[in-house]
Amino acid sequence: MMKRIYNFNAGPAMLPLEVLQEVQSELLDLQGSGMSILEMSHRAPIYEKINAEAEADIKELLGLGDDYCVLFMGGGASLQFSMVPMNFLGAGQTAAYAVTSNFSDKAVKEAEKVGKVVIPFSSKAEKYDRVPQPGEIRLPENCAYLHITANNTIEGTEYSVYPETGAVPLIADMSSDILSKPIPAEKFSLIYAGVQKNIGPAGAVAVIARKKFIEGRSKALHSMLNYETHLDNGSLYNTPPAFAVYIVGKVAKWLKAQGGLVMMEQRNAAKAKIVYDVIDMYPDFFRGFAKTGSRSLMNVTFGLPTEALEKRFAVEAEELGMGGLKGHRSVGGLRASIYNAMPLAGCEKLAEFMEAFYKIHK
Ligand SMILES: *Cc1c(COP(=O)(O)O)cnc(C)c1O
Repeated sequence: MMKRIYNFNAGPAMLPLEVLQEVQSELLDLQGSGMSILEMSHRAPIYEKINAEAEADIKELLGLGDDYCVLFMGGGASLQFSMVPMNFLGAGQTAAYAVTSNFSDKAVKEAEKVGKVVIPFSSKAEKYDRVPQPGEIRLPENCAYLHITANNTIEGTEYSVYPETGAVPLIADMSSDILSKPIPAEKFSLIYAGVQKNIGPAGAVAVIARKKFIEGRSKALHSMLNYETHLDNGSLYNTPPAFAVYIVGKVAKWLKAQGGLVMMEQRNAAKAKIVYDVIDMYPDFFRGFAKTGSRSLMNVTFGLPTEALEKRFAVEAEELGMGGLKGHRSVGGLRASIYNAMPLAGCEKLAEFMEAFYKIHK
């Protein structure tokens, strides 16, 4: 008998059951081709259509037009930490990085290998418990771009309002909240997201960019590390992560069928509220990590009075069919990742378990 758990892992993470079932039903014979997506040439018309539709559907969800592109490539969000400065941080320029997480810190390390970096905001001293509020970031002269980490997967913080940068390009790592809510997408020159958190399996990163921003950069860039190569070739310069792109395309269609990003935000906010409400009801026991104004709708992080209790919480939750609640190895504690695919019932079940656990161990 098949057993599916509520999977609270941070990534790779839960995918919509309907999408997995569709993949299953198509796996051996994709659209009458007599082969699976795993065996198919990326030059085949079927794959070209999958790639084009995934791009079009993501742009439609974000309300973007022809001046933007969606590129799919390998290397994960981590390769983007290098590609962004290699493409956009010119000699004599300064790149600004708002440091709100371990991942922003990693992005800074790569950018510093390329050029000059300043950090106009950092919550590192407070262990990354918040993101900057509007007006808190001052940009340097001759600023190449401001880089932000939109949702901080490990720490559980998220921007609800993005910084105003005027004419300075805004770049965001949205790996863990991409397509979870409507955003003013045109404010961004480039957004990148490892798809394995919120919109797909491991293996691909989605880059959403204004075409004019990525065109005409340094000729010295290696082809694979130049965004323009991927743009010119419609994400087909080399063999793309086809299986991951295929699933991202299905997730995008699933999101449209759910009512788009406005509906997803309502749902995600309702889900997160159920869990945060329990944290707020018993704050001495469930120690919410993120400052209230910075709380993430995607990753809810909290600690318990002792490490032994945290361990026990994760083990008992698992026995009840709720997996992946252990916090990231770098910060400990507990973390419930409640991405798009997590149903409301999963959050309700978690909240009920939290209350019951509190009553026994308070
Ligand atoms: C997971 C994650 C990354 C790293 O992604 P990889 O695909 O493993 O390279 C970077 N940034 C954020 C915000 C993440 O959540």
